Amino acid sequence: MNGRKLAEVDAYIGLGTNMGDRERHLRDALALLGERSGIRLLRASAVYETDPVGFTEQPAFLNMVALLRTDLPAEALLDELLDIERTLGRTRDIRWGPRTIDLDLLLYGTAKVKTERLDVPHPRMAERAFVLIPLLDVIDFEPFAERGALRELVAHIEGKDGVKRWSPTTL
Ligand code: ATP
Ligand code: CA
Ligand code: CA
Repeated sequence: MNGRKLAEVDAYIGLGTNMGDRERHLRDALALLGERSGIRLLRASAVYETDPVGFTEQPAFLNMVALLRTDLPAEALLDELLDIERTLGRTRDIRWGPRTIDLDLLLYGTAKVKTERLDVPHPRMAERAFVLIPLLDVIDFEPFAERGALRELVAHIEGKDGVKRWSPTTL
């Protein structure tokens, strides 16, 4: 039966948390992601503790990146991410402020998507050490042409000192 089902796509999700039981929020988010139909969790990075950037008067974050394989269209995947955020008690008060869990769609295959609700690749990922460092743990292909280019980007990125390995993943 060809053509009925959308081909599967590898998607990279950035996870971040700096409120309450941070490790638990990461674990819960990964578990919920893996339970959703149309989503398979393939790999998870190590967990990093990171200094807040932008709005710096807030507790340190735990960040990680997960690699998923999905047959959901990009916007439907975003809806799942937002739904899991709500399930885990995310509210939006201060922009870039404290949060129980933040789930960003970093990459959706090699697709470029720009709608009112979704911008992929995530427009701020290339300047964020707390995204790129865990991404290097799990990435297979990369849209910056070659893996070396991502390493190069990480080598020179600002804020690297604020990203410290916290624990290996339990996946
Ligand atoms: P940043 O996007 O700079 O990391 P943030 O994660 O704190 O900031 P949110 O308040 O979580 O921002 O998201 C606001 C909106 O951004 C979401 O409701 C969503 O519609 C939109 N959005 C656009 N592109 C993406 C993406 N690639 N991943 C997740 N949300 C996105
Ligand atoms: Ca974010
Ligand atoms: Ca977000």
